[in-house]
Amino acid sequence: MCELLVGLGPGVRVVGVVRWLRWLEITVETRPVTPRCANCATVAELKDRARVSHVDLPAFGQPTRLVWHKRRWCCPASFCAVRSWTEIDDEIAPRAQLLTTRAGRWVTAQVGRHGRAVSDVAAELSCDWHTVNNAVIDYGEALLDADVDRIGVVYALSLDETLFVRRGAWRRQLWSTQLVDARCGQLLDVVAGRTADAPARWLAGRDPVWLRRIQWAVMDLSGPYRSTFESMLPDATQVADPFHVVRHATAKLDECRRRVQNETLGHRGRNIDPLYRARRLLTRASERLGDTGETKLQGLLRAGDPHGEVAYAWHAKEAVRFFYDIPNPTIAENYLRELADDLKDPTFPVEVNSLGRTLQRWHDQISAWHRCRATNGPAEAINNLVKRVKRVAFGFRSFRNYRIRSLLYAGRPNWNHLAVTLPR
Ligand SMILES: [Zn+2]
Repeated sequence: MCELLVGLGPGVRVVGVVRWLRWLEITVETRPVTPRCANCATVAELKDRARVSHVDLPAFGQPTRLVWHKRRWCCPASFCAVRSWTEIDDEIAPRAQLLTTRAGRWVTAQVGRHGRAVSDVAAELSCDWHTVNNAVIDYGEALLDADVDRIGVVYALSLDETLFVRRGAWRRQLWSTQLVDARCGQLLDVVAGRTADAPARWLAGRDPVWLRRIQWAVMDLSGPYRSTFESMLPDATQVADPFHVVRHATAKLDECRRRVQNETLGHRGRNIDPLYRARRLLTRASERLGDTGETKLQGLLRAGDPHGEVAYAWHAKEAVRFFYDIPNPTIAENYLRELADDLKDPTFPVEVNSLGRTLQRWHDQISAWHRCRATNGPAEAINNLVKRVKRVAFGFRSFRNYRIRSLLYAGRPNWNHLAVTLPR
């Protein structure tokens, strides 16, 4: 009856239950089946017993330890090289794992799938943070390796850089590259670094048939990913991600605001400076300003922008945003070409000129968006998921942890495999 409650299958016998202060201790052993030596097939002899304690699932709301009274066998044959071995049962607990198998799978689902904090789960099991984290990574990696169908046909592949940690006294930034199916918003993988090589190596490891199906190569306005796509996916049409294009225009506006601030007042923005006070209104989308916001913005610009330079940069940003509202691809393409030409006018601020040159240099990629319509939505949704994972984890120190946790949460693994997953 006790065996039923412990739920470990017919091969296990409960030999003792002790109530300690911090947890319930259940001692089990396997039903005796005398094995034969793997080398010479002689019937083995019992050598001794070892008590191995594993963290188990909570039983009736109490943290639980499963103590496995393991048998050690030895080969009695004098001619045999085999000395002794310990019994193995992966369904109770795999070798070298501190959690029982069912607890290992459970914590993987709690942390990986539901996004719970490791510390939270560790507290529930009354064990160390590292014990849970190691199990999540070991089982999670095995699950992802076993799930060979996770990555299906991809028509639009997006590369996006993400900061995964700031490390050391100087808060040095460590970057990673996310590979995302831009159509369905699935995180395919994460590779370390934001160079051209990192995703290129990943792509080189794919099936050529899979690669040939990718029609759209989505990226930010950066050189490295462009060269990744040029070398690895020469037939795919390159698309600039709208989110990054608008963000670039907004960054140029900000640059212009800071320069004008410095030139007119001779110092960096302070709370009372009109341009500094306008900084949030400037970056907000015009349709979200409202009447009061618009009046306030105009007043602040009149006070702090004597030559109307910031106003030019603001109009340039809004003009870039308008490009994405044009439904017709041909009209949009012409609009973009004219806009780039206009912005290069030497009477405009230098930041606006620079934006115009960028729009010209990336003209094909930016205008391709109207034909591809692989929106940045899915990639952004994934970024939000990964940010959530990072927030819960209070930042990652190891790239391997970061990759596995991100893929478990945003990579859509088939969780049905978890029931049979064992760490390697
Ligand atoms: Zn033997």
